[in-house]
Amino acid sequence: MTSTKISAALAQAAEDEPELAPLYLLYSRLWQLHEQTQESITATLEMADEEALENRIKQGMPLLSFAQLPLEPASFAALAGEIAQTIRDFDVEVSDLTLPDGPAEWFALAERRFEEMQAVEGLPPVPEEGLSLAQRATDLALRPYLAWAAERIMPHVEQDWWKRGYCPVCGGAPDFAVLDNDTGARHLLCSRCDTQWLYKRIGCPYCGTDDHTKIVYYPSDDEVYRLYVCQECQHYLKAIDLRKAGREDVSLPLERIFTVAMDMAAQSQGFRAP
Ligand SMILES: [Zn+2]
Ligand SMILES: [Zn+2]
Repeated sequence: MTSTKISAALAQAAEDEPELAPLYLLYSRLWQLHEQTQESITATLEMADEEALENRIKQGMPLLSFAQLPLEPASFAALAGEIAQTIRDFDVEVSDLTLPDGPAEWFALAERRFEEMQAVEGLPPVPEEGLSLAQRATDLALRPYLAWAAERIMPHVEQDWWKRGYCPVCGGAPDFAVLDNDTGARHLLCSRCDTQWLYKRIGCPYCGTDDHTKIVYYPSDDEVYRLYVCQECQHYLKAIDLRKAGREDVSLPLERIFTVAMDMAAQSQGFRAP
């Protein structure tokens, strides 16, 4: 889907659901910044050879390290600062408005968040008082760089090698799933870098339980979307079923935004996002 189409789709969503309009406008602005940044990257990704990649992945180690990202402190700080301002303009709830002082501090925070938000040893930490403005802006500013790297790494990864509950590229937790058109196989979508990877049909990617009695799903009225909730760990996962969607042109990162009402419903029932 082109970015013009995406802006139009978000503007339409804002019109259709006026109560969610501010959120859609916020996502639209963040999307623009994401695209501009990703398009402006001219670096090449330094990658290990195929055998080393395969070894890492078979041991459950994500493939991307922070050092591989083409981050330059000044431009990263400018992007993160702009995102922080956007978040403030839209009154997103944050716990602390203090921002890093200059590019070196932003860069250090980026490295810290890259490591902290890996779900490899269980789920990433959820701060009691919620994320600070600096953390949120940093996470969002990392996304175009992570997505850029993921596009280059994933062609070298066989889907059958992985099947874990966290992302094979960046180690992030999933926040969306897709059931594919032919077989209904389930793929997860990384909350950080938008990588898609194959996962089992039933089972919770957050706590790993396979116990069918612990996982419940609620279909939308038209059965296009599903909300899985896990009674073992209290996390939820949104999904789209392409067998029911009846359209080809589906962008999962966009579907993640269109289903923001499902997040609200799940959270109001006490279930947690990743
Ligand atoms: Zn990822
Ligand atoms: Zn669970």
